[in-house]
Amino acid sequence: MNNQNLLFDQQHIWHPYTSAIDPLPCYEVTRAEGVYIHLTSGEKLVDGVSSWWTAIHGYNHPELNQAIKSQVDDFAHVMFGGLTHKPAIDLCRTLLDITPQGLDRVFLADSGSVSVEVAMKMALQYWACQGNNHKNRFITPRNGYHGDTFAAMSVCDPVNGMHSLFTDALKQQIFAPAPQTRFDKQWNEDDIKPLEQLIQDHHNELAALIIEPIVQNAGGMRIYHPEYLKRCRQLCDDYNILLICDEIATGFGRTGKLFACEHADISPDIMCLGKALTGGYMTLAATLCSEDVAQGICQGEPGVFMHGPTFMGNALACSVANASLKIIQKNDWQVQVSRIEQQLFAELTPCIDLEAVADVRVIGAIGVVECKSAVNVAALQKAFVQQGVWIRPFGKLVYIMPPYIIDQQQLTQLTQAIYNVLK
Ligand SMILES: *Cc1c(COP(=O)(O)O)cnc(C)c1O
Repeated sequence: MNNQNLLFDQQHIWHPYTSAIDPLPCYEVTRAEGVYIHLTSGEKLVDGVSSWWTAIHGYNHPELNQAIKSQVDDFAHVMFGGLTHKPAIDLCRTLLDITPQGLDRVFLADSGSVSVEVAMKMALQYWACQGNNHKNRFITPRNGYHGDTFAAMSVCDPVNGMHSLFTDALKQQIFAPAPQTRFDKQWNEDDIKPLEQLIQDHHNELAALIIEPIVQNAGGMRIYHPEYLKRCRQLCDDYNILLICDEIATGFGRTGKLFACEHADISPDIMCLGKALTGGYMTLAATLCSEDVAQGICQGEPGVFMHGPTFMGNALACSVANASLKIIQKNDWQVQVSRIEQQLFAELTPCIDLEAVADVRVIGAIGVVECKSAVNVAALQKAFVQQGVWIRPFGKLVYIMPPYIIDQQQLTQLTQAIYNVLK
């Protein structure tokens, strides 16, 4: 191991959600292949996190590698203002093909948070262009996570999202209680009532409802009943507010449907995609909207949608996204994800008997073990590395969402490590 490098890293480089004064330890990676991450120190770890939901086909995938290699010889990037290209056109065509009906326009953004900013700006501009400037707030359930930029942060869970730090800088949004009925339990009508009441009271000032469909991810790893999402759609229609579905984490098969909206058979007015879009290779996201939203935004002044990232439609990112979607469209993910789901049910359920564990939940290729109290991330991380796996807990949550290509034995290594480490 090169201690000089790790020392420099510790003294000069920010890592996600960590301290500059007392940083969590970092492990140096030399290569990654299939489901394995190789460390400089020689360990080979089964990846349980897919690099934050992204690497669905595994690392160092020949078809994804080839897509980037071919594209880079043509061009890596050109500005998207006034220029266009086949990688972007192919990508947008495929996205409109495979997403729920009613989405007609694609805005390519450079990260998930930016795609959420774009979605929120679309909703605000939609109402403003029709003379409804007072419809400028958002409603969202608690325990949501939508990104770290300021508008996105304003709709994250106020406690997890540490809103108290930024009270004066954040727009005050309206928070409904988080959905309570579990995915596989009997729907309870009371679950929707608080949201319904808030919408009744505030619809005149609401631009949109924003929600992660079916799985609330980084805000608590909670899996809720599809009827809740159905009713969100209905309430938005009844009270004339837009529905934004943030599928950044759930999109591309992770929950057992290609998009989690399909569990409730609904279409949003605006949808955000990101994370697995490029198979984990490059940062790219997309905000899709209906024709009605697009028309509404561009009627009246200024007549254009006011957003345009420098790296919008990056050709390398679009090419690798196209290659990833080609693999998705072969449909092997359906068999892979349902096999992972069955195995997660079978092998994580026994964790419920452990002293430290409060709850176990599974959907698609997502397995969650919730502990009774917050875990020691550094200690657990180290224990997991010793067991030959890469799992990154947060708060009370130890969760896995492996690459879809993981085999039975590798997945058992992950579930067994969780059991052993929490025992
Ligand atoms: C990760 C995530 C985001 C933010 O995406 P970034 O690419 O990290 O900016 C937004 N919404 C959801 C649901 C996410 O999981």
